[in-house]
Amino acid sequence: MSDYLNYRQQLKLSGKQPKEKKRVKIQQYSKKRQRANREYFPKSRLFWEGKQCVIRAPGCTGAAQCVNHRKGKSSIDLLLDERYWEPACFHCNNYIEDHHQWGADRGHKLSRNKKEQ
Ligand SMILES: [Zn+2]
Repeated sequence: MSDYLNYRQQLKLSGKQPKEKKRVKIQQYSKKRQRANREYFPKSRLFWEGKQCVIRAPGCTGAAQCVNHRKGKSSIDLLLDERYWEPACFHCNNYIEDHHQWGADRGHKLSRNKKEQ
């Protein structure tokens, strides 16, 4: 990774367009993400399976069906960071996307700027 960053830095300085590399970069990224997903899906299933949804929004269907990511999953690190996971049903997972403040007030959405609560 640092080699790659050096490479990017040099390109920046030389003003060349990294056409060929750009294509490679996207492939590397998606491979990385694919690997993360392969790790994530079985892991997350073990995490929520057999549990009850903890969000309990109006209309909650009870049994957990997925993972709510309290810090989102904008990066692979966040996607896989179980400290921020909680079992949720699909309904509630969608609910707090639509009612951000409701989720934040109850600790189901953490600000990305704050330290772990
Ligand atoms: Zn629920």
